[in-house]
Amino acid sequence: MQSYDAIVIGAGVIGSSVAFHLARLGAGKVLVLDRSQIGSGTSTQSSGILRTHYSVIENVELAKLSWSVFNDFAGYLGDQESSAGLVKCGYLICAPEGAKLEPLRSALAGQTAMGVEVRLIDQAAARELLPIAQFDDAALIGYEPEAGFADAYLVATGFARSARRQGVKIMEGVNVERLLLDGARVVGVKTNQGTFHSHTVISTQNIWAGDIEKWTGIPTPVKAERHAVLALEGPEAYSFKMPVFKDLGSAGMLYCRSYGGNQMLVSEGTVGETLDEPQNDQGDISMDYVVEVGGQVAERFPSFGEAGLASSWTGVYDVTPDWNPVLGRLPDVPGLVVGYGFSGHGFKLSPGVGLVLAQEALGLPTEVSLKPYAHERFRNGNLLTGRYGLGAVS
Ligand SMILES: Cc1cc2nc3c(=O)[nH]c(=O)nc-3n(C[C@H](O)[C@H](O)[C@H](O)COP(=O)(O)OP(=O)(O)OC[C@H]3O[C@@H](n4cnc5c(N)ncnc54)[C@H](O)[C@@H]3O)c2cc1C
Repeated sequence: MQSYDAIVIGAGVIGSSVAFHLARLGAGKVLVLDRSQIGSGTSTQSSGILRTHYSVIENVELAKLSWSVFNDFAGYLGDQESSAGLVKCGYLICAPEGAKLEPLRSALAGQTAMGVEVRLIDQAAARELLPIAQFDDAALIGYEPEAGFADAYLVATGFARSARRQGVKIMEGVNVERLLLDGARVVGVKTNQGTFHSHTVISTQNIWAGDIEKWTGIPTPVKAERHAVLALEGPEAYSFKMPVFKDLGSAGMLYCRSYGGNQMLVSEGTVGETLDEPQNDQGDISMDYVVEVGGQVAERFPSFGEAGLASSWTGVYDVTPDWNPVLGRLPDVPGLVVGYGFSGHGFKLSPGVGLVLAQEALGLPTEVSLKPYAHERFRNGNLLTGRYGLGAVS
């Protein structure tokens, strides 16, 4: 049996970030196992939006920490050939009169209190930033200049490459079949390619985190939820200079951004289709659905009434009951640290989450408190539900 100081299960953006940070913190011999390939899970399906806007204040802290990494990804990794594919176009969010107005006001105030630059702007200023949209109904508009979007595949592979350069071993095509336990304590993993010993195992398995329940009997409050993403080509370009836009006034709480510098990437920020089994194969997107979302888009972007569907795809979220992740140790299973349940917003948190999970695994103080994210909250009822209700804006 081969022995390691730490074993990471999963090489998506989260697992790769954990591996990089373990190496940087001097964890010793680190092994990463993925049954598929680096980044090939749900990370490659990500819309890649980066913002610190959250109504859950703890998330603002993690997102802030992460943004500073995205903003200088190559410098942070010490690898000038790395790129996160960052497009720093800013983030615009608006709400009409009604139920979303006060949550937006307080979330913007929360960001400001946390030292994030956020501007309250009027409809004319919003039109200057995003001239293809109309804001006639907008009662409150926030603009976050230090935001944008990036490429989750580049980030996962960037973290993985830097981890490898620091000596981490990453094995692809290796399926973890179960944890090896000595009583309740973790002592390694059994895989389709043999057993590997370690007293520290970090599970970053996303929609497949239900494995933990099978292996330990501890309930894993996560379900796989499929979401559709559309790329629309309208008569006017959605250029890279135009901000990411969150429309709290639309029925689907739409988010939109530039796609390739010309098209619009758009998706709904509400509840998706629950899957019976965790799998991220492509699902069907009906024309009725495209017409329905297209109608919502055209209300905000009038010229997109003429838009055509350029492409579409589906991706799967690992959704918890409060749409926020479970981060940290599972106290009933000493040696096991988990990071799952990112509920459609884990990419923007991935650098910070990788750091704090690595710190936790090594018994170091964590940069951001993991207490609010504890698994325990589903037993004691201290949920992290955002003020916008259920959905990835959280
Ligand atoms: C459509 C869509 C849009 C999104 N948009 C955004 C966005 O705009 N902004 C944002 O911040 N976030 C967004 N997200 C969320 C974000 O992309 C995810 O939270 C993040 O990529 C998840 O990374 P991960 O490492 O947890 O999971 P994954 O990338 O799924 O990695 C998990 C890995 O674990 C491996 N694995 C699982 N079980 C085992 C096992 N037993 N043995 C070996 N390997 C195993 C899998 O093979 C997989 O590679 C979006 C997600 C989707 C689907």
